[in-house]
Amino acid sequence: MTKTYTHFINGEHFTGSSNRFGDVYNPTLGKVSAQVPFANQDDVDKALAAAEAAFPAWAATSVLQRSRIMARYTQLLYEHQPELAELVSSEHGKVFEDAMGSVLRGIEVAEFASGIPQLQKGEFSDGVSGGIDLYSMRKPLGVCVGITPFNFPAMIPLWMACMAIACGNTVVIKPSEKDPGCPLRLAELFVEAGGPKGVFNVINGDKEAVDVLLTDERVKAVSFVGSTPIAKEVYKTATAHGKRCQAMGGAKNHMLILPDADLEDVANALMGAAYGSAGERCMAISVGVCVGDEVADKLVELLKPRVKALKIGPSHERGLEMGPLVTREHREKVMNYIQMGVEEGADLVVDGRNFTLPGYENGFFLGGSLFDNVKPHMRSYQEEIFGPVLQLVRVKTFEEGLALATEHPYGNGTSIFTRNGAAARTYADKVEVGMVGINVPIPVPLAFYSFGGWKQSAFGDHNQYGQEAVRFYTKVKTVTARWSEKTLATDFSIPTLK
Ligand code: NAD
Repeated sequence: MTKTYTHFINGEHFTGSSNRFGDVYNPTLGKVSAQVPFANQDDVDKALAAAEAAFPAWAATSVLQRSRIMARYTQLLYEHQPELAELVSSEHGKVFEDAMGSVLRGIEVAEFASGIPQLQKGEFSDGVSGGIDLYSMRKPLGVCVGITPFNFPAMIPLWMACMAIACGNTVVIKPSEKDPGCPLRLAELFVEAGGPKGVFNVINGDKEAVDVLLTDERVKAVSFVGSTPIAKEVYKTATAHGKRCQAMGGAKNHMLILPDADLEDVANALMGAAYGSAGERCMAISVGVCVGDEVADKLVELLKPRVKALKIGPSHERGLEMGPLVTREHREKVMNYIQMGVEEGADLVVDGRNFTLPGYENGFFLGGSLFDNVKPHMRSYQEEIFGPVLQLVRVKTFEEGLALATEHPYGNGTSIFTRNGAAARTYADKVEVGMVGINVPIPVPLAFYSFGGWKQSAFGDHNQYGQEAVRFYTKVKTVTARWSEKTLATDFSIPTLK
């Protein structure tokens, strides 16, 4: 018996009235595990009405109280981390240990958000002129919307919801229709932590729901994470309707490998960064840029047996390196890119397309693939594959490698492996990419920094989480206050302070 999910509005489960449903799969089994309702305009309206009604009281809740609720929420999330990870892994397909890590990276944002009394402070300048003080406040915006992708069903809803809510906003999260189980549980736990009803709502659905969220005047800000074409559209529509919008898109993350790098270290780093979570991470390293043929030849020699021997299996089992991909369609898409790479003339060193797992023949499994001699003009290099496929590009110099990552349309993350501090520093300084790792493969910043790419990887201002999120989820009010014994003189010029 498959379960049927609901929406979560005003602290309660709500079936919705659309009678349209989508299938949620268990990717290991390749079977439908649940049905998820696709909201219509009325359902979305109900969620927005609840969020709007809850806003005044929540915005007026003292910052300490908001902080305490966030701290209790953090505690509950830690207690439920294994349960949340099971949900992630059963609907997304990433292996349990990886799912645990991804939940933790979300909890860290809840933990950071519980420091909101410090984060949301304004500024104060006393005595800027006779009896005049100048100060600023950071006020919440109102109803904020989060639209999230399939690949991090705990972490990304938590990035958005925790920061928006801690700042005094109410939220409506529209999760990916592929794995809605975890976001629904996150909203339930917020209420269990003492969060008021209507502050954290979840509406499930597809484009129909998103279109209402992007155009309804009650929505003040939209945070989106997903693929670049949809990010662009969301940004265009939301801003055209007067909303603040940050829209994070796809990626193609390069690792530059210099001849002085420890290649054992590089191979270890690449295995996890390219094939972990079956490559379905926006910070996965999908391109290894080798400076010199010697580096490339040695790396192929090191990687080939390891890619062939990847421990792939059911996402619920422990001790594995890779689970299945999220859906049959996504697996198909990745396989098409592999075929494209072959037809474009790249060398397919390891072909993961024929992988099957005995007993799980219907699962959406794919083996790891490794390409060598990929050229920058190839479409399979220009576009995001989002699967367990690593492409090696050979360049002659550091400068050529730096130019590759800089000129690629995407600019989410990148890393450099070297023992040369000056080269690493130049790379970090010059590369046109938002997040850089030095001898670190996946430079996802911690919760007290912030996450965001450049170029086609992000549209709009401000990053996810960190102080940047406080800027995104608040508007500044500045007050000039005069408390003086002296009489105010009339002045027809623009006020200037002496
Ligand atoms: P997606 O763009 O297909 O979907 C993202 C969200 O948009 C989902 O909630 C989906 O329901 C909704 N959506 C899909 N089509 C829509 C449409 N036509 N109109 C309105 N809404 C629509 O992305 P995905 O496949 O779920 O996620 C994978 C993508 O997300 C990859 O490209 C990956 O790189 C990217 N990603 C980026 C980051 C980042 O921070 N830059 C992080 C994680 C994932």
